[in-house]
Amino acid sequence: MARSTPLAALSCLILLNCLKPLISWPANDKHASDMSQPDFDQYLGDYLKPGDTVALLLDYDGTLAELTSHPNLTQMSDEMRESLRNIANSGKAFVSVISGRDVDGVKEKIGINNIIYSGNHGLEVLYPNGTRHNQGIPKDVADNFDKMIDHLNREVVHHGSWVENKRVSITFHFREAEQKYVPEMAARAKEIIESYGYRANPAHASVEGKPPIQWNKGLAAEYILGSSFDPNWRTRKVLFAGDDTTDEDVMKMIKGTGRSFRVTKDKDLVTNADYKIPSVDAVYHLLKWIESRVV
Ligand SMILES: [Mg+2]
Repeated sequence: MARSTPLAALSCLILLNCLKPLISWPANDKHASDMSQPDFDQYLGDYLKPGDTVALLLDYDGTLAELTSHPNLTQMSDEMRESLRNIANSGKAFVSVISGRDVDGVKEKIGINNIIYSGNHGLEVLYPNGTRHNQGIPKDVADNFDKMIDHLNREVVHHGSWVENKRVSITFHFREAEQKYVPEMAARAKEIIESYGYRANPAHASVEGKPPIQWNKGLAAEYILGSSFDPNWRTRKVLFAGDDTTDEDVMKMIKGTGRSFRVTKDKDLVTNADYKIPSVDAVYHLLKWIESRVV
């Protein structure tokens, strides 16, 4: 039997709506087209309902703020800050920012009180009431910290390289050093870092010196959620966004229970995240979407 005209028109409308292109792409889908604005209704509409309580975990550099040539130059936009503040103060959201920066540095950059800040990839935690929790670093290693920095400053800091002191770890930066000096200064920095009992990891135009303990952002997120959000946090709603390989540990940790977003324009990149989103601006729209659910 033929459909009546209004019903046929309605079916056509529904079909057209279903065929409209996705405005972002699922993680690990190389063939998805490049889109600018993700459809968070589609990604999260069934997961986070109006009135739900949510734990929101975020990276800072490259996620809440655009990357710059020097960490001091990085700024979060006023709009992003306002949205994050609204979420943090909604009474329905638990917010934590877990960064590679030192914890006081990341708190200063964001400047919102009602957030649990974690620095040094989770080694340090700073609570809104000012109390701190640091993962146990062996005393003999911790005692070497200042000596290691002095040694690096004396021997490998020259021609544009510099040491970032992050209180429990360091980063030796050579992005702005004269190229002809880089191989030797990077190799020597690694030797010096290791001679003081720290682990030397190659990073982007830098060498990181970290204490020799097994800890990462994923374990830090698990600790923060379990101790401050809910011991049964796996039964609750958890969202995370990050842009770097160190953020993958969080994505892995909440896989299956939470929802995660990897900020990247690389469609070939394989990630543990549930979705890829292309930019810091897309993170802003993610926050606005969450704000619309909790405020
Ligand atoms: Mg980052």
